[in-house]
Amino acid sequence: MLYYQATPTTAHKHQIMSLQKHSSPPLTFTAGPLDRDALARTNEKKFGTRLKSGKARIVIVWNQQHLISPNHRALILSYNEAARMIDLDTSLLVFLGIADEEPWFALGLPGSDTPPDVGKPAKFVMLNDVIALLPASEASTLAYARAMVIWHFNHLHCGRCGAATKISESGHSRICTNTACMYRSFPRTDPAVITLVTDGQRCLLGRQPEWPAGMYSTIAGFVEPGETLEETVRREVYEETGVMIDAVHYVASQPWPFPSSIMLGFRAKALSTAIRRGDDELEDCRWFARDEIDDFSDLGSTNIGFKLPGRHSIARFLIEDWRHG
Ligand SMILES: [Zn+2]
Repeated sequence: MLYYQATPTTAHKHQIMSLQKHSSPPLTFTAGPLDRDALARTNEKKFGTRLKSGKARIVIVWNQQHLISPNHRALILSYNEAARMIDLDTSLLVFLGIADEEPWFALGLPGSDTPPDVGKPAKFVMLNDVIALLPASEASTLAYARAMVIWHFNHLHCGRCGAATKISESGHSRICTNTACMYRSFPRTDPAVITLVTDGQRCLLGRQPEWPAGMYSTIAGFVEPGETLEETVRREVYEETGVMIDAVHYVASQPWPFPSSIMLGFRAKALSTAIRRGDDELEDCRWFARDEIDDFSDLGSTNIGFKLPGRHSIARFLIEDWRHG
């Protein structure tokens, strides 16, 4: 059977991008500026033309870190700069998308004990450490580049036969080099649910022992094969807190490239309020009223007492959405 696939016009793409931007909540790592132009990924000629266009922008990732300049902006290299500064293997580039007619690529540098010298006043920094300082569009692009590069480094061999894999589709898949196998794998993102549970007046927050002192957050967990998202929400909340929940409503999502998650945010109504921790994930779990949340401090504050999760997390978004809703 043949399927007709319409090719989006430029106007259509702009409309899609505009809708995406306007419908996305103000969450870090969302509403990225790039048109991914996924239909062009198999067009090797276009890949080469874009790379050599003189407009190419290359995001370097080394040891899961990005180049950050002293003024806390991402240092993005031109093609010529990248070719001059590093051993640029263009076959390893990942096409990220187009923004303002500039094609963007990601390049993962081999791991090493010391950072590669790119000849610029910039340092390699973990994205988490500079989120608060970066413009939102840069944070989104770096998160995307980071997730793609980490996926490539973790899939150098075929999961089916163990042979080496090679990059394909402008960096958006890898294919096994064993001609008897040729298994193709695609960049993965692991879905995790994160839920604000409320009994109407209070919300349910817990804390893991390794979190910063005083920080409490919403209940989260990974989706398992064969589960709906709603089933995962019910299972995770019950396992971690013993609370039974009724209706589950989707609120928002957030890519979370540490290393490869998509956080799916929900709000759920409690059917029971007794807390009984069923696993060891949380060391404490409590109900908090809105006025109690008002007394929480920001993460990083030197105040003693309860603290909210970071401002760039969907957990914080869910709490604020409920608190002010
Ligand atoms: Zn294979």
